[in-house]
Amino acid sequence: MAKDTILAIVVPCYNEAELIKSTIERLLFVLSDLEKKEKISDLSYVYLVDDGSKDDSWYEIAKCVARFPNKVKAAKFSTNFGNQKALLAGMLETKKIGCSAVVTIDADLQQDENKIEEFIDKYDKGAKIVFGIRNDRNTDAFFKKVTALAFYKLMNILGVKIPKNHSDYRLVSFEALEVLEKFQETDLFLRGFFHEIGFKSDSVYFDVKPRQVGKSKFNLFSLSALAVNGITSYSIVPLKMICIIGFLSTLFGLVMGIYIIIARFMWNDSPDGWATAIITTTFFGGIEVFCIGIVAEYLGQIFREVKKRPRYLIEEELL
Ligand code: UDP
Ligand code: MG
Repeated sequence: MAKDTILAIVVPCYNEAELIKSTIERLLFVLSDLEKKEKISDLSYVYLVDDGSKDDSWYEIAKCVARFPNKVKAAKFSTNFGNQKALLAGMLETKKIGCSAVVTIDADLQQDENKIEEFIDKYDKGAKIVFGIRNDRNTDAFFKKVTALAFYKLMNILGVKIPKNHSDYRLVSFEALEVLEKFQETDLFLRGFFHEIGFKSDSVYFDVKPRQVGKSKFNLFSLSALAVNGITSYSIVPLKMICIIGFLSTLFGLVMGIYIIIARFMWNDSPDGWATAIITTTFFGGIEVFCIGIVAEYLGQIFREVKKRPRYLIEEELL
């Protein structure tokens, strides 16, 4: 049975020229080992998505495609669409080419590639999605660690139950890919998506290695964009909160007003104005602008979704 499993390993790449060759060699080694153990079919392959790299990544990828025919395939985006789109394209394109399951892994192989065997074992036992969960965040810088944990905590409070230390290292079966294909959202938040669809799932725990070559391709801006998209595409609790904040501040204003009128007429005592007035106006002004900002995030989300533009553009594909 398992021998029929065609596994596609999807790798998003952005400016990874220095490490593409060794990454492909290591992944092909994993594939051939699993083929020897008769856990997967020898039609299995590695599929790279060059996310509009500005360095020689595509040149390096093309060399490997020529060197390992049928074993390495690749697509090149016309420009940088971001890691989530590269993962999405990899999964949808390999489904078209043909596969029984996909494992997505980063080009720097910070996620232990030797765990792919465990993903396959769980798939063989019937899991339709296998989540890769990091054992810890020791390799992350302090700031990234704190913000990532805060993000997962916030998502849980907002009702999106993603386990903390979740990653984009996961196995997705053909059945789950069929569902993925039906979700045409422009900004699909993959980590939320695979938890929400409710297929039989399992988890694999892995250690994160430090990056061997180059630097992280994410910056504070792209990470916060990913986090905000995660929230706005899976929860409308922030919008509901605005209502509650508005109600509470109106109530506060009302109580203050009544108190001031009573104080004025009963005890002829009008409270000192300046400080109170300025503090309350700036405080509530701040809350108002913040709330408009939250509404704006959702408006932006609707704006992008409603246009239904293609989610990515493939300029060239090497099969
Ligand atoms: N990546 C991508 N597009 C981008 C940024 C990153 O395809 O715009 C890829 C990158 O090449 C790598 C993976 O996404 O394969 C994860 O990126 P990185 O290792 O830089 O992130 P980190 O490990 O710091 O989370
Ligand atoms: Mg990395």
